[in-house]
Parts: sequence; C-alpha cells; structure tokens
Amino acid sequence: MLNKNLLIILSTSLILFGCSKNETISDSDKTAKAEAMLAESSTGEVFVSDAVKTHNKKIKQYLDFDNKDDYEAAERGFIATLEDTKILNDNGVPAYDIDAFDFIKGDAPDSVNPSLWRQGELTAKHGLFKVMDGIYQVRNFDLSNISFIRGKTGWIVVDPLITGKPAKAAYELVKRELGDIPISAVVYTHSHADHFGGVRGLISEEDIANGVRIIAPLNFTLETVSESILAGNQMSRRASYMFGSLLPRSPTGSVGVGLGPAISSGQLGMITPTDEIGHTGQKMTIDGIEFEFLLALGAEAPSEFMFYLPEFKAFCQAEIINHTLHNLYTPRGAKVRDGRIWSKYIDEAIVMFGDKTDVSFGSHHWPTWGQEATVKLWEGQRDIYRFIHDQTLRHANHGYTMHEIPELLNMPDGIAKSFANRDYYGTLSHNSKAQYQLYFGYFDGNPANLDPLSPAAEGKKFVEYMGGASNVIDKAQADFDKGEFRFTATALNHVVFAEPDNQAAADLLAKTYQQLAYMAESGSWRNFYLTAASELKNGIMDLPTPKPGGPDLVRAVPLDLFFDTMAVKLDSTKAKDKKWLFNFQITDTNEKALLILSNGTLHHRMNTTDPDATATIKMTRAALDQMSLKIKTFGELREEGIADFEGNPLALKSFFGMLDEFEFWFEIVRP
Ligand SMILES: [Zn+2]
Repeated sequence: MLNKNLLIILSTSLILFGCSKNETISDSDKTAKAEAMLAESSTGEVFVSDAVKTHNKKIKQYLDFDNKDDYEAAERGFIATLEDTKILNDNGVPAYDIDAFDFIKGDAPDSVNPSLWRQGELTAKHGLFKVMDGIYQVRNFDLSNISFIRGKTGWIVVDPLITGKPAKAAYELVKRELGDIPISAVVYTHSHADHFGGVRGLISEEDIANGVRIIAPLNFTLETVSESILAGNQMSRRASYMFGSLLPRSPTGSVGVGLGPAISSGQLGMITPTDEIGHTGQKMTIDGIEFEFLLALGAEAPSEFMFYLPEFKAFCQAEIINHTLHNLYTPRGAKVRDGRIWSKYIDEAIVMFGDKTDVSFGSHHWPTWGQEATVKLWEGQRDIYRFIHDQTLRHANHGYTMHEIPELLNMPDGIAKSFANRDYYGTLSHNSKAQYQLYFGYFDGNPANLDPLSPAAEGKKFVEYMGGASNVIDKAQADFDKGEFRFTATALNHVVFAEPDNQAAADLLAKTYQQLAYMAESGSWRNFYLTAASELKNGIMDLPTPKPGGPDLVRAVPLDLFFDTMAVKLDSTKAKDKKWLFNFQITDTNEKALLILSNGTLHHRMNTTDPDATATIKMTRAALDQMSLKIKTFGELREEGIADFEGNPLALKSFFGMLDEFEFWFEIVRP
C-alpha cells in the first residue's frame, strides 16, 4: 500500500505546473532513502482519540450512508479494466498505479472520516465504462477522466489526462474492448493540466496536419501557462502537500483527494488547439457530431467550457459541476474564484439544457443519469456556490470577519446532506474565507491584524508570555487530551516557530495534525495535515530538486510573460544600484523588447529597443526555450551560433547573476 515509487511525488507538483524531472544516480539514492522512511512511517501504532471517534460517528449519523445511488452510478456500464495495474513511463518509472486505492472498501477505519472514506471508495473505481451508446469514459487512470465520443470517422476524445502514458493506456483499453477506431478530434474542456497534459500519448502534430482537430475554450493556450507561472514554485511545493504525494496510500495515509485518487507522473505535453470556442451558444459539428458550447470563463478555471450533444441528449459538465464541493480557494495556492459567477454558469446550464439532458458526465467522478437526477445535481451545485458567496457577504455586511463567518454559516440540509455538495475537495470553511478575501483581502479592519509580527517573532513572544515552551506544551497536552485540536495546533505552532528544534513540541503538533486529519472530510485537508505531521516528525524528505521543464509549455509562454517571470526572479538587493537597459531580440520571430533595470525592479516594453542600451541580446526562440529549460547555458548557445550579444559583457553576466533560482523543498511547518 506504500506509494511504490516516490518519483511519483515529484511529478505531482511539477506536472501540474509544467516541470519535469531529470533523474541522476544520486536522485535515485535519495528516492530510495525516502521510500524507506515512508515504509517506516506507515507502520507503528495508530492512536485515534475519542474525540475523533465521536466526531466521525456524528457524520455517520448525519449523512444517509444507506443511499447507494452514487455506488450504482460509479459502477454502471463497467466494461473492463487493465489486468496489469501499473502504468509505466519509458524509463520504467511508474506513471500511475490504478489499483493503489483499492484498499478502500467496506466500513471506514477509525482513522478516516467515513464520508471521505466513502468518496475515496467511489473515486478509486477504475476502468472503461459505457455512459451510453456512443459515449464512454475511462475513469481513475489519473486524477481526471478521459471520455470518448463516437464520431462519424473516429473517437472525439475529451480531456486526455495529465501525462501521456495513462492516456495511451486508456485508449489501448478502448481499442481492446471496442475495436481499433482512430482518433478524429480532441476536446480540452479547460486550461488545467489534468485535462490536456496527456495529449501526446494519443496524437502528434502529424495527426493535426492530417486533419485531426483540437477544440478548446477561448484563451486556452495563454491560460495554460499564465495561471501559475509567476508563483509556480510556491504552488508546486504546496501541491505536494495537497495531493498527498508524499504520503503512503493507506488508512493512515492518503485516501485520495476527493476530486480523484492521485496524480500521474511523467512529461506534461500540450498541442495547440486548432479551434477556440468564443461564445456561449456557439455550435460546431465535430466529426459529424453537433456540439453546443456553454463558455464558463473565470470560474473553476480561467478558460473553460461545458457542452451539450443534442444527438445523444448528453451534457458534458467539465469541472464546473462535480460530485464534491470544489475550491473557491485552492489550498495549494491560487487566485480566489468567485462563487457568484460559478453559480450563474450552472444556472445557465439549467436554463439551456436542463429539460433536454438525459445524462450529464464530467471531467471527474461518475455521470448522472436521468433528467430529474441531473437537474437535482446541477441545482444543488448551483445553490452551494451561491450560498457560500452570498451568505459570506451577508455576514460580512453585518460586521463579521474571515475567521468568524465560516462558524456562522448554517447550510440548509437540502444542500448540506447531498453527498455531491460535501467538503471532499473544497471546504465550506476555506471557500467562505475565499469569498471574504475576494472582496476585502487579508485585512479584517481590526488594526491588531494590520501589522502583526512575523510567525517566528510572534511565536517567541507568545511562548514568553505563556511562561515558556514547556508550559505551553503541558497546556497543549491537556487540550489535546480533551480533543480541542484546533487551538492545540495554534499554540504548538507558536512554539515550533519560536523554537524550531523543540522536538517535543513538533511531535505533539504532529500528533495533533494526525487527529485533525482523521476527522477531515476533505481529502486535501487530510493530505495537508498528514504531510505536515510527517515533516514535523521526520523533517523534509531529502528528495531530488525538480527542474523546470515541459518543452510544450515553455514554448507556449509568450515573450511578454517570459519577462514578467524574469522580473519575479530579480534579487532587488543585488540590483538596487544598477541602472541598465537591455535590448532583447528574438531573431526568428522578430519580437523585441527593451528591459529596464531601475531601483531593483525590472520592467520591459515590448516592440521597443534603445540604441544606447547597455547590451543587446539576440537569440532564436528555440535558444530561449533551451535556456529556460536549463538544457543549455547562454554561453553554449552562443557557441552554437543561435544566441549572441553586443555591448557590455560584464553587465550582462552580472544581470544574469541577479536572477534567483528557487529552492523547491522549502520549509512550510517550520520557520
Ligand atoms: Zn481537473
């Protein structure tokens, strides 16, 4: 049940944000050591407090666990799955282990919230499923679903997973069970990597030249690279917590992330769409099948659509409608989303297609059959995002703040008792905070919170006022014994930030996080708590540092955005006294820009150069990409004759030296 190969970990984050990993001998050593550590951490006695047991029992009583509709739906139309459950990359490293979560069966153990356990069992079901004649899905060969719609000449593939090998394995399974039918088109429902990254496992540019089309929503290509590029390292590291990639898959480890089981490993790819859909109501015939699109920009993803298939009376809900409460704020870190807009898109779906949809299928989870059940699901999902948005603002307008409002929200049972609206991925708590943040930002108006000390400095004062670390630990132990884990975590976190080497505090905080994990209904919260516990007990695993990568995505970064990324790397202290201008010319695309270094900040003006610049850099776009991917240095590219410069070489060298490299494995739960 162990996470068989920790290299999977590395991809978690990397993959979502366009990085890849080059292995070396020492990297394998590091991975082996970390695996041994994981093995050790998954054995040993498990303590589950009475408070956790009581909490989980209440959930069991509150929700209707006798209702097996979701089980029927998740199993309906099952055709077959792979006998060999390990999907490997070309280098032998596992890409995905489709049965890693098969242990989730029957009654929940004490160490898992029964509602999350139920969701874990449902999301773990893997294989090829028939949605209806002409529409099939392969589920749980990755975090997301891949769907196959039968066109007149071949398959229209919707959302080709995160990496190529699982996508290819899914297609092989389809071929084996349904015949050798070619792929005639690919549809990307949205700009997140789990919906396009595996496309190269299915088709190549040659297929595009031969007429295969790729259909995507407006601004798709730009959004695939821009949503996370400026903040990618922080998001990726936090994603390693959220997706549970550093955890064993076990009743005391990860049981999935609520949206799906886990993330595949390998190279992320992207082939540019041939067609972008620009407005709601737009119709298009793809390989003889009529599609009607509903554009949903800036809700779950910056670029997304849902679509209706009149001939099948089927609706693809993409990731706007799911069998979970999704994230208005995603804990790996991202800009917050607007529940009001999200809810409006779902209402639009109800108006446009609610009375003529027999089946609704999505990019995650299982389909919903029957017009009545479908509209019920859609309405519940519409209501929950609207509820969180409006009720957060209502309470805010009464004067309540970010950390008070979630405690006050009284969700009607009509929303709250439906499994599809539960906290498996997003939570009511963090989504409400997200809506507060959307309108008011981090500050609650109370000046005590305007300019607090940094966590380490605050921790030191807290511990001092409380009479020293051992005093705090004693009090925390007493609260722990009473099951008051939330404040226990707050207090002990102060001690750990005041005294990072205080292992007694770290160990008790780790135990506290474990209890919080065992209660959590959200897969992402559980993974956060358990990963934090592991890093407090054992330190950060000594794993290889991921390298930025993914040639398809690096190529897709517009020059304008490339310079913004460069500016984020500038160490302003090193640059503060320099006033330099650099001309930047991309020789093969004829793009140019002027870079302006001023007071430790870097600006750029596109389509401009200055004859008095400190230096002029010329290179091809391919050379720039190779430099970004760290395949070659500027010097090497210059020797090859695809990069050059004129002007002051020392200034240029010094400038490149002012750009930071980011360390991936930074501390999260210690200062
Ligand atoms: Zn997704």
